[in-house]
Amino acid sequence: MADLHQFPDISRVLISEEQLQQTVQRIAQEINDTYADAKKPLLMVGILKGSVVFMADLMRYITVPMSIDFMQASSYGSNTVSCGNVNLRLDLKCTNLQAFNVLVVEDILDSGNTLSCILKYLKSKGAQSVRLCTLLNKPDRRKVDVPIDFEGISIPDEFVVGYGLDYNEQYRQLPFIGILDPRVYNS
Ligand code: 5GP
Ligand code: MG
Repeated sequence: MADLHQFPDISRVLISEEQLQQTVQRIAQEINDTYADAKKPLLMVGILKGSVVFMADLMRYITVPMSIDFMQASSYGSNTVSCGNVNLRLDLKCTNLQAFNVLVVEDILDSGNTLSCILKYLKSKGAQSVRLCTLLNKPDRRKVDVPIDFEGISIPDEFVVGYGLDYNEQYRQLPFIGILDPRVYNS
């Protein structure tokens, strides 16, 4: 159990380290089953930066042939593509998506704007298949319908940090998912 005295900005733990690890293993099993007979290898595409901790844990339980790549959603910069008000930095190193079953790995699905843009883009590049894996889901906040293939945990509409998720680039290193004390963003 986390000692919250070490983390005074966190008002409460929403998902413990143990629960996260169980969730990661359960999702990995579902992924392994889904792609067990796939003709093409898996390409896990992590959405930076929030997905890195989840991705690093998840990939260690994947037993089918796979490689990794990353994309980043951003509001400015060069080498971007837009849909709606989302811009993507096209950081994918992989240029032959036709050779892969693509699995997008995301930290949290909120409004759905970012993911719907990313999924549309990857499908337009001719991937064999494009599926979505998200650790957290905030269904109450959805604005765009995005089908989830592998889902970790559904959470209420609260701002969470830890296990990759940040507030102003802080708190990504926490081993659990916690709720940030509102005094942090109100001060
Ligand atoms: P959306 O689904 O609204 O397009 O965007 C999802 C992104 O918003 C996530 O990848 C994440 O970066 C950010 N986000 C949404 N909800 C939260 C939250 O509760 N905590 C943190 N740290 N980021 C969030
Ligand atoms: Mg994100």
